[in-house]
Amino acid sequence: MLNTIVQFSFFLSAVLFIIGLKQMASPKKAQKGIVWAGVGMLIATLASFLVPNLQNLSLILIALVSGSALAYVSAKKVAMTDMPQMIALYNGMGGGAAAAIAAVELINPIAEHSLIFTTIALSGAMIGSVAFSGSIIAFAKLQGWQKKQVSLPAQNSLNAILLIATIVLAYKLVQIPDATIILTIFFVCALVLGIMLTLPIGGADMPVVISLYNALTGLAVGLEGFVLQNPAMMIAGIVVGASGTLLTQLMAKAMNRSLFNVLFSNFGATKSSDNNQDGKEMKAIEASDAAVNMAYANQVIIVPGYGMAAAAAQHKIWELTQLLQQEGVTVKFAIHPVAGRMPGHMNVLLAEAGVPYELIYDLEQINAEFSNTDVSLIIGANDTVNPAAENDKDSPIYGMPILKAQNSQNVIVIKRGKGTGFSGVQNELFVADNTKMLFGDGQKAVADLINAIKSL
Ligand code: NAP
Repeated sequence: MLNTIVQFSFFLSAVLFIIGLKQMASPKKAQKGIVWAGVGMLIATLASFLVPNLQNLSLILIALVSGSALAYVSAKKVAMTDMPQMIALYNGMGGGAAAAIAAVELINPIAEHSLIFTTIALSGAMIGSVAFSGSIIAFAKLQGWQKKQVSLPAQNSLNAILLIATIVLAYKLVQIPDATIILTIFFVCALVLGIMLTLPIGGADMPVVISLYNALTGLAVGLEGFVLQNPAMMIAGIVVGASGTLLTQLMAKAMNRSLFNVLFSNFGATKSSDNNQDGKEMKAIEASDAAVNMAYANQVIIVPGYGMAAAAAQHKIWELTQLLQQEGVTVKFAIHPVAGRMPGHMNVLLAEAGVPYELIYDLEQINAEFSNTDVSLIIGANDTVNPAAENDKDSPIYGMPILKAQNSQNVIVIKRGKGTGFSGVQNELFVADNTKMLFGDGQKAVADLINAIKSL
């Protein structure tokens, strides 16, 4: 009877995970989706206590309480802009937990050590270990703790040797499952492989890498779910693995890069012809002049980027939008799929500020409209509007689709100074004839614009 309750609870959790994920596909329902999935996780956790012959109850409780407290405090404290590294860290923990489960099961003398059991446990162990150590490096990079892009000579060959060594060790372990020394070396190799794979990858590619590790973590959890014969783990792992794979593909596509290129090309290790601005200078504009341009426009497209998030300017931007609408200006928002520092970053911030979804357009919907637009107001976006992606074959961002703000009649750019974007590439749009720079912190600059429009 108890076993039936446990199995039913695990199944129910899996259904809740899927419902939650489905809701997360829409910004409107995403918050509810998180709650559904959270309830699923709570049910799965509680049901685990009903598993017959549960041992080490006090250790489990200590781990649960300390883990939950740590997660609660850090999630409350983390700034929106630091969310990607937070995700990298949580994700890494999932991979590490899957690898730890495998380690325990592989050294457990009473566990079944059939060929299929050992192979699946080792596959999960290897994938989970790579995802764990790789995610920790991704976290360190995004946190700014590991700024240097380390790339050894023949890095890819070294990685290939490590991969082969890990697989050979796994093969040995299938033959001699209780060889603890081989198992230890196997884990060390897999962990080093995750580090070596991630170290040479540039910061701008980290979101794709995190998403890939997320997919790998899902796969590892799914495999270990099979080892433990836990359907909730199996289904949750498969769902995370599949959604992570789709997200990785979407992000790579948005950057016009293949996954192979992201992982093995050391993007951003070398600077391109980026510093060549042909001697052109940026032209500054005062808020009062920018206000005139915008208030008398027919259509304004607002292009937000990472700087809007850093300045927490989304509320001011919505205030500005409403003011312009009162002046009879049509205002639209153009969102690049990799604007900001995580997928959907801009959508979340704009939704939080109350911007209606009908005003928000994605790249394919809005690009043709820039040529009919009087003013494009770029706030803290850089790489995502950089024409070098279209016309400089040597640029590291060449081929990435961009928002074609350069086609509008006037471009006003709000940023603090001459800083580059995530890719470190200079932006020729900022020195173009139709571009004016409204220098300042995003929030303050928009507040100045609002005041200037009000006093017209
Ligand atoms: P971006 O290229 O990173 O540029 C952001 C700009 O914001 C900078 O040039 C900076 O210039 C300005 N800025 C920073 N703080 C500001 C503030 N307080 N007020 C006003 N401006 C501020 O941004 P993006 O166009 O959004 O492009 C995103 C980039 O990040 C892409 O390269 C993408 O591949 C990468 N990425 C994307 C994701 C994702 O999943 N969305 C995740 C990680 C990385 P100043 O210093 O001069 O102010």
